[in-house]
Amino acid sequence: MKWKVNSKSMLITTNKKGRITEVSNALCVLTGFSAVYLLGKNFRVLDRIKTSKSVYQTIWNNLKQGKQCSCEIKNKNINDELYYLKSTIYPNIRNEKVIGYTFIAEDITDKKRVEYLSITDGLTNLYNRRHFNDIFVQEINRIQRNNKYLVFIMLDVDFFKLYNDTYGHQKGDEVLVNVATVLQKNTKRASDFVFRLGGEEFGVLFEVDKFDQGVEFAMNLMKTIKALHIEHQHFSKGIITVSVGVAIKNKSTVPNADELYKLADDALYEAKNTGRDKLVMSQ
Ligand code: GH3
Ligand code: MG
Ligand code: MG
Repeated sequence: MKWKVNSKSMLITTNKKGRITEVSNALCVLTGFSAVYLLGKNFRVLDRIKTSKSVYQTIWNNLKQGKQCSCEIKNKNINDELYYLKSTIYPNIRNEKVIGYTFIAEDITDKKRVEYLSITDGLTNLYNRRHFNDIFVQEINRIQRNNKYLVFIMLDVDFFKLYNDTYGHQKGDEVLVNVATVLQKNTKRASDFVFRLGGEEFGVLFEVDKFDQGVEFAMNLMKTIKALHIEHQHFSKGIITVSVGVAIKNKSTVPNADELYKLADDALYEAKNTGRDKLVMSQ
């Protein structure tokens, strides 16, 4: 098959072994590699984020059956800038034999950037409230189809207004970023989600096999935030702490999104009203 290549086409053809035999100018501009450098090299020289084996496997499983494969590809250019491509890869067949492959793609980086900004909080880079609303419902539905526990943790920084008044708004922003970093570092699985729900209030959503693991996890988050030892001189504890409300439900007990939110929110309210720097489990 011969492709019409215009100045915007992202196109690569390779031989059967994956060595590049043709590359469009637009792809060179996007990736930062020259055609002279790329021609004759294995296409994997373009993979600058070490794409997982399973992605390659999925593509390969299609191609070896003579099928085309469409997928979204995330990668970095020579300057380590992220780009996204909506791609289709075809086997090139001559006399019923595969003689190579053609990769054509559309650059969807701008679309991805807009998508990212619309679901992300600008200060902390956590997911924002809008995304929370979608994910919360999605995860409640998911827990109804497995045998795990859904853990929803709400955390609110204690006496944060007083902190801002004492140390200034900018220092306050730094606290929010530090708390967000603790939450993010402790939630690495694909099914873990961290949100800035608003102001100095955060939400963490994930699933566990056993109820106790959820409680342990929430206590550990509290401890780790305390261990930052951020001075808060007008609070009796002397450092930044958080109050925490936790709701843990499985498929037979999980209520709808509004009710689950209220359970954690009420528990957080009780933690505030009974001294702060505290974790309260919902009933
Ligand atoms: P409590 O222990 O009851 O939670 O008291 P609090 O002072 O933390 O709670 P309150 O709701 O009275 O005040 C929250 C403060 O958080 C007030 C607001 O100025 C501050 N805040 C909200 N968003 C931001 C932000 O993005 N940056 C900074 N620096 N402060 C923020
Ligand atoms: Mg607060
Ligand atoms: Mg608050």
